[in-house]
Amino acid sequence: MRALRLLNWKSEPELVEVDEPTPGPGQVVVRIGAAGACHSDLHLMHEFEPGTVPWNPPFTLGHENAGWVHALGAGVTGLEVGQPVAVYGPWGCGTCARCRVGVDPYCENPAGAPVPGGGGGLGLDGGMAEYLLVPAARHVLPLPDGLDPVQAAPLTDAGLTPYHAVRRSWGKLPPGSTALVIGVGGLGHVGVQILKATTAARVVAVDTREEALALAREYGADLTLRSGAGTADEVRAATPGGRGVDVVLDFVGVDATLRLGAASARTLGDLTIVGIGGGTLPVSYFSVPYEVSIQTTYWGSRPELTEVLDLGARGLVRPEITTFGLDQAVDAYRRLRDGKVAGRAVIVP
Ligand code: NAD
Ligand code: ZN
Ligand code: ZN
Repeated sequence: MRALRLLNWKSEPELVEVDEPTPGPGQVVVRIGAAGACHSDLHLMHEFEPGTVPWNPPFTLGHENAGWVHALGAGVTGLEVGQPVAVYGPWGCGTCARCRVGVDPYCENPAGAPVPGGGGGLGLDGGMAEYLLVPAARHVLPLPDGLDPVQAAPLTDAGLTPYHAVRRSWGKLPPGSTALVIGVGGLGHVGVQILKATTAARVVAVDTREEALALAREYGADLTLRSGAGTADEVRAATPGGRGVDVVLDFVGVDATLRLGAASARTLGDLTIVGIGGGTLPVSYFSVPYEVSIQTTYWGSRPELTEVLDLGARGLVRPEITTFGLDQAVDAYRRLRDGKVAGRAVIVP
């Protein structure tokens, strides 16, 4: 079969022929219906080097995947060949306290995982191919009615990651509150929808690109701002009493956006860094408002993915998608790098 593989660090992936996978006991092979192109893959291709993460190329890209069950390994029950499914992407050990409750991203026994801290498309072969080997059937979630693999694939990361980040701040987003979304790309434009669908917060969205801001407005952002020198003041001016926003979700993570987030947050607010932009935020006693909680988040839990798929099936969260064939995948990533993708680019093999 054809597969888009990252063969070395600091290189673009290549479309090559590889063997079709067969499932071992407890495993599932999924025929790929769609695989999303995440900005994390650009970090992988262009910035990572030996030692950045505990795994190395070669592997097939694609960590947001959906399709149909193709083959079941011995002992797998509860799934049927041909059934439409989404693949939960972070693959932990399956037996530690975190994995048992579906929080594989924070697996406490990474040495027992198929690859430490990764998954398909992140150290192991991912879904930018005709078939994907999923090492444990628990990662394969049947799609609810009303959701097809093309819509479902981005929900497994561009949906799940912002969903987790928003959900952990639900208690800080009552009526009258404000949330700030920085970076309205693949994750951010779904983040805006999740905030509108699951909280009462006013949503302010910031991006460098006008097209991204137009997308944010289309999906319900109450105020959109082109980022620049005075953006934090504009954000604060849009909050009651100029006090600042209750929750900041930074889907970029460079110095400028971290500064913007810290300067926009309100006392007792949350500043959640999702973007892997490599920036740093100096923190000292007077540099951020009192009791602002600052955290990074990685992906989300398996129960949360079930909730996101439900939001998708009910039409409350609908990723904006442009599809590309496998032979156009390299071009899709170049467009993503150049800021020329609206919402999510999805590869349909
Ligand atoms: P994307 O390229 O689709 O979107 C990024 C958006 O940010 C674009 O709209 C871009 O115009 C905007 N942007 C860039 N620089 C900006 C700036 N200085 N100010 C304001 N906006 C700016 O990327 P994506 O796939 O949505 O991923 C976003 C980030 O999240 C990436 O760093 C990615 O690696 C990371 N990510 C993290 C996780 C996690 O679990 N923490 C999961 C997936 C992706
Ligand atoms: Zn991703
Ligand atoms: Zn574990």
